[in-house]
Amino acid sequence: AVDSAKLIDIIKVIADKITENREYLTQLDSAIGDADHGINMSKGFRAVVEKISDMGEKDCGTILKTVGMTLVSTVGGASGPLYGTAFMRAGQAVAGKNELDFNDLVSLMEAALEGIKYRGKAERGEKTIVDALEPAVEALKLRREEGLETALRDAVEEAKKGMEYTKDIIARKGRASYLGERSLGHQDPGATSCYIMLEAMAARLL
Ligand code: ADP
Ligand code: MG
Ligand code: MG
Repeated sequence: AVDSAKLIDIIKVIADKITENREYLTQLDSAIGDADHGINMSKGFRAVVEKISDMGEKDCGTILKTVGMTLVSTVGGASGPLYGTAFMRAGQAVAGKNELDFNDLVSLMEAALEGIKYRGKAERGEKTIVDALEPAVEALKLRREEGLETALRDAVEEAKKGMEYTKDIIARKGRASYLGERSLGHQDPGATSCYIMLEAMAARLL
């Protein structure tokens, strides 16, 4: 099970991976956006780590909610409110819990996806975060019976495929949509950060 201390650890690993990939994410965004996705995300997660480091006494829902509110208030771009809403919804899904079991993890991931879709109104196939996150959440649900390890590995694999698929589709949401067909051939920065975050989470859990 994941207690508050472990949850904080997972979020720190996510923050580290985002920081490691700062240039890469910004480079992807320079092709079809305004070259700030890595900067936005690493700035947001730096603030997150500062906020949550000493929250070990708080419940998991409160910690996740704090992550979300911090992202909303520190990330200027589209990704801030989107990931912020995702973490806030995830926190609501496990409100008051001091320990998360596998079913809680599935519920919070579902809530995160719903939050992003509600906030950004994107469906799969529009070259956004949803293209990595939705297949991952579906895999988690589909493979729930097989246990955490199998389900999570499969979820990360599906997120990766979804991320790669964004190269083959035209952006319909966000800045990249202004490019229309010219967005083809480029991997979406947000789908990429989403995959990186899921992989980081899995690395700490498996
Ligand atoms: P901005 O575009 O404001 O500079 P970022 O560069 O931080 O913000 O984030 C861009 C990413 O946000 C895109 O690559 C895309 O994945 C994601 N995104 C944009 N709009 C939406 C949306 N409506 N729904 C889901 N994700 C979106
Ligand atoms: Mg950008
Ligand atoms: Mg921007």
